[in-house]
Amino acid sequence: MVLEIVSYGHPALRAKGRAVGEAGEEIRRLAEDMLETMTAANGVGLAAQQVGRPLQLFVLDISSAKDRPSRMLVEGRDVEPSAWMPMIFIDPEVETSGPERLREEGCLSFPGLGGKIARPDRVRVRARNLEGEIMDFEATGLLAQAIQHEYDHLQGILYIDRMAPSERSRLSDQLQDLLQKTEESLGMPALA
Ligand code: ZN
Repeated sequence: MVLEIVSYGHPALRAKGRAVGEAGEEIRRLAEDMLETMTAANGVGLAAQQVGRPLQLFVLDISSAKDRPSRMLVEGRDVEPSAWMPMIFIDPEVETSGPERLREEGCLSFPGLGGKIARPDRVRVRARNLEGEIMDFEATGLLAQAIQHEYDHLQGILYIDRMAPSERSRLSDQLQDLLQKTEESLGMPALA
């Protein structure tokens, strides 16, 4: 089932996710629905916060983004990232390393808005999948970028928080419009 993706201004996007623990039937269904929702929206990642559920859970599939390369390493050996897609991350831990890279980034909760964000190029991830198996790997490139973006969502952090002030001020009118639209749709008082 395709779920509604909430937009900037929705309180769920600022909520830190609760730990999931062992994935029961409800989490399985939610993860399946999130994958379907992400694919329908042509996204490479989607966090539970974005469907209004503050949990330590995100889904990811970078296989459609062939123009932006990634590396994935398991026990120090290169593996083919597309063979691992789509991925479901439960209660992930992410450590970053390496030099920062400035890359274009977007977010399904900010439709039509993109900006450049600097992030470290390398991540080490430990998480569980739906079967409760531990995934432990390193990644660079788009995969590392997408994992950091989604992991931020689980902490209530949005990509605009990591934008350089000049980049964010360039988008300020569009952000204000989006915020107003979301607040109106939620029945909250719009900002003057
Ligand atoms: Zn996002």
